Amino acid sequence: MSKPTVAIHKFSSCDGCQLAFINMGEPLLVLSELVDILHFAEAGPVDENALVDIAIIEGSVSTSKDIERLKRIRNNSQYLLTMGACATSGGLQALRNMADTKQWITDIYANPSVIDSLDKSTPIKDHVKVDLEIWGCPVSTRQVLTAVRALLFGVMPKDENEKICMECKRMQRVCVMVTKKEPCMGPVTRTGCGALCPSVGRDCYGCYGPAENPNTQAMANRLTGLGLLKDEVARRFLFINSGAEAFHVQGIRTRDTT
Ligand code: SF4
Ligand code: SF4
Repeated sequence: MSKPTVAIHKFSSCDGCQLAFINMGEPLLVLSELVDILHFAEAGPVDENALVDIAIIEGSVSTSKDIERLKRIRNNSQYLLTMGACATSGGLQALRNMADTKQWITDIYANPSVIDSLDKSTPIKDHVKVDLEIWGCPVSTRQVLTAVRALLFGVMPKDENEKICMECKRMQRVCVMVTKKEPCMGPVTRTGCGALCPSVGRDCYGCYGPAENPNTQAMANRLTGLGLLKDEVARRFLFINSGAEAFHVQGIRTRDTT
């Protein structure tokens, strides 16, 4: 019996999520026993147009050729997952969505005409149907593997969208906001990283994007109460996941409030 097939595609990104995938060690060997990885340019196999059961996408849509390639990938796959902040919210490169991209290109590059860049960096879901978004910068390989394993058994993976604070409590971590007055974004950020930053005594900066029902205004008020200036509060939201609606709206609202 043939094995299920997987392809891992890259769009605009730093490759960090693919590297996290490669670095997972032994579980990757187990995965390679269970599936045939037909396209994963970072690791070796290249067959961009392969028909697969599961396509996993890293990176955002940023160039004029991306949309056509993305539609081809969607047509060639049964399930399509996004991996990481770039693919799910547009990533750090979506910061340019709030600026004049053409002006930046003119200012930075000696020969701007060779730069093929759309005005905005957008998440994959803006262009094709996405079956599951896996957040994080970089992504949690545990979450990717859990999702792939569920799909191999014909089960739609659970979207882990509760708040980091819940994970901290379960792991019995001491709250860095309460005890150290750190401007922690855990109350509005989705879980999945294993409460990595609070576990080493520092604040979460929201790299997993908005959790379910985030009370972003209360979060902004609390950050102000901790002494952050208005622009500093806005930048807590307008950072890695500035393209995620809940963070974007709150960041702009805070920034533009007089
Ligand atoms: S989500 Fe972060 S780690 Fe992953 S590709 Fe984008 S910038 Fe790199
Ligand atoms: S604690 Fe926050 S900033 Fe740190 S890895 Fe987790 S989501 Fe990212």
